[in-house]
Amino acid sequence: MRRTMIIGAGGVAGVVAHKCCQNPDVFQELMIASRTKSKCDALKAQLDGGRTILHTAQVDADNTAELIALINDFKPELVINVALPYQDLTIMDACLATGTHYLDTANYEPPDVPKFEYKWQWAYRERFEKAGLTAILGCGFDPGVTGVFSAYAMKHYFDEIHYIDILDANGGDHGYPFATNFNPEINIREITAKGRYWEEGEWIETEPLEIKRVFDFDEIGEKDAYLLYHEELESLVLNIKGLKRIRFFMTFGQSYINHLTVLQNVGMTSIEPIEFEGKLIQPLQFLKAVLPDPASLGPRTKGKTNIGCIFQGVKDGKPVNYYVYNICDHEACYREVGSQAISYTTGVPAMIGAKLLLEGKWKKPGVYNVEEFDPDPFMVELNKQGLPWREDFNPPLVD
Ligand code: NDP
Repeated sequence: MRRTMIIGAGGVAGVVAHKCCQNPDVFQELMIASRTKSKCDALKAQLDGGRTILHTAQVDADNTAELIALINDFKPELVINVALPYQDLTIMDACLATGTHYLDTANYEPPDVPKFEYKWQWAYRERFEKAGLTAILGCGFDPGVTGVFSAYAMKHYFDEIHYIDILDANGGDHGYPFATNFNPEINIREITAKGRYWEEGEWIETEPLEIKRVFDFDEIGEKDAYLLYHEELESLVLNIKGLKRIRFFMTFGQSYINHLTVLQNVGMTSIEPIEFEGKLIQPLQFLKAVLPDPASLGPRTKGKTNIGCIFQGVKDGKPVNYYVYNICDHEACYREVGSQAISYTTGVPAMIGAKLLLEGKWKKPGVYNVEEFDPDPFMVELNKQGLPWREDFNPPLVD
C-alpha cells in the first residue's frame, strides 16, 4: 500500500485530502495529522467510504522529534506540508531523518520576522540530493501554478521571456465587512509588507500598496490590482532566462483596504509582542482570533477567482505576448469539496504535485521550485483535476 501524510487540517488541507481521495490509485492510504486532532477526524468522517484508507493523528509540527516518531510509525513515501510556513524546516528535517519526500505550498518564514525568502529551504538542497529525496517547494497556485505556467510558456512559446506580470484576482464576495480568504496572519503579513518587483537585475521596493493598476479580468470585470512582493518572484528571476522585469499584482476592494488601513493605524496588524494583563500577546495573532475563520467562508462566498500570468518576449526573432490563466468559481468549489476557491486553487495543485512525485514524473533528488520540473504533465492534470486553464495570444497588457 502506498502511503502519504498530510500535515495540517485547515482550509487547504481539506481540499488536498478531498482531491487525494478522488485519486485513490495513487493515494491508497492517507494520514491527516495536525495540531488539533478533532479537525483531522472531522475531515476523515467526510471522506470515509471511498477507496482511500484514512488515518488521523495529533502532531505538533514545530517539534521535529514528534514528527519523526509519527513518520516512522506510519511510513509514508511523501509528506504534504499544508500547515503554516513556520513549520517548513522542522518538517523538512523530519523528512530527511526518515527518508521521506516533501512538498509544501509556502516558503519558510521565521515567526518573528515577516520575510518571504527561499534561502532557508534552498540550504537543504545538498542534504536532500544526498539522501535521494525530492522536496518540491511552493506547489500551490501562487506560488505553484504560476511557476508551472512560466515553465510551460518558456518551453512552448518563447526563446526568451522578457516581462512577466502575475495577476491574481478574487472577485468573490463572502458578505462580511472584513475577512481574509486564507490564514489571516499570513495574509495580512503579506499585504502590509513593502511591495517589491524585479527589473533589469535589481529589486525595486515600493511602499505597501503604492502601485495600483486597473485590469479587466475575464469573467470578473475591472478590478484594482496592487503590486505586492510574492515569493515566486525570487525563484522565477533565477529560473526564467532573459527576464527583464517581473511583477505580481493582487486585487483588493476599497472596503478591504479601508479596514486594513484602520487596523494598521491602531497597531492591530503588528507582530511585535505587547504586554496585556500580564501576558505577552502578538496583536496580529489576537486579530486572527477575532476574525472569521477562513474555513467558514466557504458556504457564503459567491463569485470567481482569475489567476494567471502575462508573458512578453520573443520566439524566432518575433515578439510574442501570451496570457495563461485559470478561472475558478467559489460556489462550484464549495459544492465539490466544501471550501471556497482560495483553498481550492491551492489544494488542487498541491495534490497534483504530490501525484506527479509519487508517479515518478516529478521525482529528482534535491530541493526544487515547481518551474524546475517538466510543466507538461502538470498542465494536463490541471485540466483533469478541476483547474482548467485558458490561453490568449492577444492579451491586454499591464502598463
Ligand atoms: P489554516 O490556518 O486554515 O490551516 C493551517 C493548519 O495547520 C491548521 O489545521 C493548523 O492547526 C495547522 N497547524 C498550525 N501550526 C501547527 C503545528 N505547529 N503543528 C501541527 N499543525 C499545525 O491555513 P490554510 O489552510 O489556509 O493554509 C495552509 C498553507 O497554505 C499555509 O502555509 C499558507 O501560507 C499556504 N497557502 C498557499 C497558497 C498558494 O497559492 N501557494 C495560497 C493560500 C495558502 P489548528 O487547526 O490547530 O489551528
